[in-house]
Amino acid sequence: MNCPLCHKILLEIDALPSDGCTVLNPIDYICQTRVKFEGKVSEPHYEHRYGEPIKIVLPPYRIITHNGNTSISVADPGNYDGTHNFKRTVFKHVITIPELHFDTPENILKRINLLITFS
Ligand SMILES: [Zn+2]
Repeated sequence: MNCPLCHKILLEIDALPSDGCTVLNPIDYICQTRVKFEGKVSEPHYEHRYGEPIKIVLPPYRIITHNGNTSISVADPGNYDGTHNFKRTVFKHVITIPELHFDTPENILKRINLLITFS
């Protein structure tokens, strides 16, 4: 499988430890491309962990798609989760829209900027 954004091959990681059964293990898909926010740890570009929503990070936005809805948040540069050793980026929710379809990162950013302008 390839990343729908940058088309690099997605890393496939076993989502759960094998319990000895022969059924296919669920797999997490993570893009090799990582994006970095100023002073924060990098985040995978595209992340789809088993049983979880699809997460895309396109600075300054984080885009989470689940059950036909896409929730868009923007990085809050003044804030981070100080409970971790790593400075994780904190995001503020901006808008929720019907499922956003994958496109090039440039087109997605353009669309989000338009949506926010007219919301
Ligand atoms: Zn990617």
